[in-house]
Amino acid sequence: MRVSRPVGSHTRTSGGLAKAALPYADAAGSEAVQVYVSNSRGWALPPGDPKQDTLFRDGCGERGLPAYIHASLLVNLGSPTEQTVQRSVETLEHALRRGAAIGATAVVFHAGSSVDPAHDDKALHQVREALLPMLDVAAARGLPKLLVEPSAGGGRSLASKVQDLGPYLAAVEHHPWLGVCFDTCHAWAAGHDLAAPGGAAATLAALDAAVGLDRLWLIHANDSKDACGSARDRHENVGAGTIGVDGFAALLQHPTAAGLPVVVETPGHKAHEGHAKDIATLRSLVPTP
Ligand SMILES: [Zn+2]
Repeated sequence: MRVSRPVGSHTRTSGGLAKAALPYADAAGSEAVQVYVSNSRGWALPPGDPKQDTLFRDGCGERGLPAYIHASLLVNLGSPTEQTVQRSVETLEHALRRGAAIGATAVVFHAGSSVDPAHDDKALHQVREALLPMLDVAAARGLPKLLVEPSAGGGRSLASKVQDLGPYLAAVEHHPWLGVCFDTCHAWAAGHDLAAPGGAAATLAALDAAVGLDRLWLIHANDSKDACGSARDRHENVGAGTIGVDGFAALLQHPTAAGLPVVVETPGHKAHEGHAKDIATLRSLVPTP
């Protein structure tokens, strides 16, 4: 059964994609799954196991779970280091291929950074050169979509505030295969006060003005261990952090965010309990019609 607003979690895969992820999703009560298809902090690109891929795809299909891939955290298309850009391209191409094999809807990647102020002017052009051909190929072959996720800020980030998405999307000519993943912890760290009255609505309005809300295809619902504007990316369980449950309620109950899939990337990754609780909390904020 496909639910109108799937709420799920990032899901472990060690021991086999289907073998590990499906029982985890079941135990956590996930209605959407997100997985890594390569080491989150490495460049190795494993080929995958066709048998596990089929089992995963079929298992997600039977359960009505949309699947997402999170690309390696090392991906940085704005890097001043040529080898990093090349590896980032190969990692995203690999994730798109793997995504097609496992039936994923989209591949999430971080917006990246120019690292060095002297590289600021070149970074977005570099993003364009790297992403445009990849988006064209993905669209032509019906591969998963790509979702750019703004970062927590700092380190010459190419996009942390939702307003930064305007130039980012413009750099790839608003290609129809590129959407946005909005991470609450990152947005909070970048200075969007989701806990203040009207804060979530103002953030969504700014996102709408920058790129149009029809570009928003996924929400990462993570609470934060740090203050708004801290530029720090330390996730906390939903309601246990500085954003608080009211901030999530305001965001998820906002009419323009209705129906968007939600994935938590909160602590509780090794055992499913933390995710089960966060999924239940988020579901309780948005009663199903
Ligand atoms: Zn995220």
